[in-house]
Amino acid sequence: MKGMIYCLITIIGNSFFLQAQNASLPPQPKLIVGIVVDQMSYEFLYRYNEVYSDGGFNKLVKEGFSCENTHYNYVPTYTGPGHASIYTGSVPAIHGIVSNNWFERKTGKMIYCVDDTTVKAAGIESQAGAMSPRSLVSTTITDMLQLSNQQQSKVIGIALKDRGAILPAGHTGDAAYWYDGAANAWITSTYYMDNIPAWVNDFNSQNPAAKYLTQSWELMLPSNKYKNATSDSVNWEALGSTTSMFPHHLNYNGNSEAIKSTPFGNSLTMDFAKAAVTNENLGKDAITDFLCMSFSSTDYVGHVYGPHSVEIEDTYLHLDKDLASFLIFLDAQLGKGNYLIFLTADHGVAPVPAYMQSLKIPAGVVNDMEMLTGMKNYLNEKLGEYEWIASYTNQQIYLSYPALEKENISKEKIYELLDAYLTTIDAVANILIIGGNSNSSVPENIKQMVNNGIYPKRSGDIQILYDPYYFEGRITGTTHGSHYAYDTHVPLVWYGGNISAGKTYRRINITDIAPTIAVMLKISEPNGSIGIVIEEVMK
Ligand code: ZN
Ligand code: ZN
Repeated sequence: MKGMIYCLITIIGNSFFLQAQNASLPPQPKLIVGIVVDQMSYEFLYRYNEVYSDGGFNKLVKEGFSCENTHYNYVPTYTGPGHASIYTGSVPAIHGIVSNNWFERKTGKMIYCVDDTTVKAAGIESQAGAMSPRSLVSTTITDMLQLSNQQQSKVIGIALKDRGAILPAGHTGDAAYWYDGAANAWITSTYYMDNIPAWVNDFNSQNPAAKYLTQSWELMLPSNKYKNATSDSVNWEALGSTTSMFPHHLNYNGNSEAIKSTPFGNSLTMDFAKAAVTNENLGKDAITDFLCMSFSSTDYVGHVYGPHSVEIEDTYLHLDKDLASFLIFLDAQLGKGNYLIFLTADHGVAPVPAYMQSLKIPAGVVNDMEMLTGMKNYLNEKLGEYEWIASYTNQQIYLSYPALEKENISKEKIYELLDAYLTTIDAVANILIIGGNSNSSVPENIKQMVNNGIYPKRSGDIQILYDPYYFEGRITGTTHGSHYAYDTHVPLVWYGGNISAGKTYRRINITDIAPTIAVMLKISEPNGSIGIVIEEVMK
């Protein structure tokens, strides 16, 4: 079809140049595989490389092109916004996915980023099916691929987490599949289809999680090989499914939810992705298909045990092994050079504060309920008893507009009061009035990151910024979400297709991925894209 169009142009006009260019166009990859590793810090690409195999992460880095200095350029650095930003080439201010959950002023309710009550699980009994990309307000690179060829591409999103599968597959994806542990099944919603394909039913009917869950999670290597992890018996790991020590007995009782916080959740994702490639014939014809995978278990394990734990090292060893087997699989299915992989992460992670404290590094946790109560009490004291704050979430204060209007109090007045109060609270670095120029002591690049994260209909009025290594959470385990480099710096490796081995240390934004794929495929970038093409990758 494309050849015909070029012929026509040749006949119609003076187009020797166009024809020559077409002849020099590299062949398009038959399949693009987007791999998002949930909660993968840049450092994990290298920290474990002595114990990684030759066929997984080490192969990607050695034979692929690594953008070593790739960062998120907004806050908050959470899963929903991360996946949306990778695939839209944009930021929450434009694509609208401001967080995993946000406060909706109109209804006074919390909204989950992929909630959609107008749809349900397709062809299966599940409580986890009312999901779609409806809240994503801009297009994805996968949408643009579909728009470029009258939806002839196959686009499939796969992740244990619904948001990790749904947002990448865009509005026009053929399917997004996520895992319902209670139903022991990969599910999708009626947004995509009325009935689940036979191959998915077959896959589910074999209860593929059971083979993992009926064993214990044991260390993959002898324990003395885990040189880049703390002792397993530290007191700052949260309790996993049973205990914080190896071996982790999984006590399988028919509900597969527990697989998510083990490396086997990622293995299950890989098993399902291979079945999708085979059964959907991905990459088998001349039209480029897109498989969007996200590995959620690294995040579940990371939250519980932290990024310096034996558990996280072992989880990366398993993922490395799964990646190696996937590359062998793709070579056999499609042939080397016929697929293009990019691997990145939806955010990084903070170290466990208690571990940092044990090393005399400043760190700590803040109780969000205490923060809210403190702010409410202070405003009541200064302005009189009233519901001044409608919600506090994502370190954002949503003021109660009816209260402000009724009492004739400005947003700025509340900001001044809260600023005075919050400077007395340990761990608070700064506060910012959203959309204003209120605080000149906040560096411009941080203000820009805050602004990039604001979609006014869904965002709050005042942003609280904590000191590095401080976050709202519990005393054990850890999280992510800040504007600091430990949360923003992620891997970005391109492999396969026409990619040559190499590295760049230039600062790349996460929003640069989608427009780079667009020029590789010679298609338009997503409609909200603000990224800049990473030229080095194509040299
Ligand atoms: Zn995540
Ligand atoms: Zn997380």
